[in-house]
Amino acid sequence: MHRIRSADHTLMREMNLALLLECLRREAPLSRADLALMTGLTKAAVSSLVRELIEARYVRELGPDLGNKGRPSVPLELNPNVGYLIGAEIGVDFISVILTNFAAQVIWRRDEALTTRAQTAVLHRLVAAVNQAWAETRARHQTILGLGLGLPGLVNVDNGTLLFSPNLGWTDVPLRDWLQAQFAFPIYIDNEANMAALGESYFGAARGSDLVLHLSCNVGVGAGLVINRRIFSGTGGLAGEVGHMTIDPDGPPCNCGSRGCWETYVSKWALLRRVEEAILSGRPTRLLAATGHDLQQLTIPMIVDAARRGDGVARAALAETGVYLGIGLAGLINALNPERVVFGGGLSLAHEFVLPTLREEVRRRAMRWAAEAAEIVVAAHGTDACVMGGIATVYYRVLTEPLPYYAQGQRGGEAQTPAAVTV
Ligand SMILES: [Zn+2]
Repeated sequence: MHRIRSADHTLMREMNLALLLECLRREAPLSRADLALMTGLTKAAVSSLVRELIEARYVRELGPDLGNKGRPSVPLELNPNVGYLIGAEIGVDFISVILTNFAAQVIWRRDEALTTRAQTAVLHRLVAAVNQAWAETRARHQTILGLGLGLPGLVNVDNGTLLFSPNLGWTDVPLRDWLQAQFAFPIYIDNEANMAALGESYFGAARGSDLVLHLSCNVGVGAGLVINRRIFSGTGGLAGEVGHMTIDPDGPPCNCGSRGCWETYVSKWALLRRVEEAILSGRPTRLLAATGHDLQQLTIPMIVDAARRGDGVARAALAETGVYLGIGLAGLINALNPERVVFGGGLSLAHEFVLPTLREEVRRRAMRWAAEAAEIVVAAHGTDACVMGGIATVYYRVLTEPLPYYAQGQRGGEAQTPAAVTV
């Protein structure tokens, strides 16, 4: 009986600590009296919990606010230096690692192009980059609260396994356990679209929305659904693989083994294919010169640049991609009734040419009420969406379950020694 009571007490305490942290995240600076008013906790309880959060370095006091009549109140805010966070992404042809403080301000970053998809080589480079981030952290006498890694494929978040990445060609990689054996701080992995969605919800274009659908349009297309600041993961963490909805049963073959998937009409490759077909049919375009007559060199930024200069082929290819994006998105809006839809991923660089046809298609095909309720916005983080999502993943865990992080935050500059890398 005593044990149960004690467990309940710890749970209640953690829930109340998380409640205060969430209030401060949303509306800091706040005084203890503000917090008592917002949460319904007694002033004595707030004082005691705040003392605990200050001792653990999660919260700090600003100078007293002498503007008020009566006793001066001391404004509180989250401490941006409680610890550093690492966001990482393995893309199909790059890795990125960023290091931020607790206010998501970037302290250090590393971006590398990959010339191989070989698992061992890629993971070795990732670990080297994370080790560098850790060295930067140590040099600043800080500690790392966790690492969030986004991956281009199907991830089981419960057991931390990358199940399948068609674009990397990897299957059943127990990445979280493997990384956890290398580093002392907590490791979280998820699919890049989920990570990006959480990043935009916490720090980007969907801040303040309770139901966010984030579309991540890159080499593949994925969706992340964030409900009340939590990723909706489905059973086993596989929700959001919208790129493989069939939109044409007789369409082109897809990497996943099916045919006519949405992704085959709206991915980066689909866009490049449209440009190539236009060129092969003899339509004039500046893209031919821009690529030195080698269409293998064609990139999304080149197409966007040509479109901005009025190139008809580039504009038509982007507009047609927008039509197909709108066709799939209309179905998602009907199914999910989101408050905000964030258009993200590499293709969002071209939003000014894609969104008009996308919006028109949504207007034509979705239920009017759901379409009107869904505000379609462009992602704020661009190509950094996934790494910022890695940051948001750690941030969310610290804010909602602060107790396990106390020890780490209090360790301050103490070094965490990762094991030797054996990939
Ligand atoms: Zn597919």
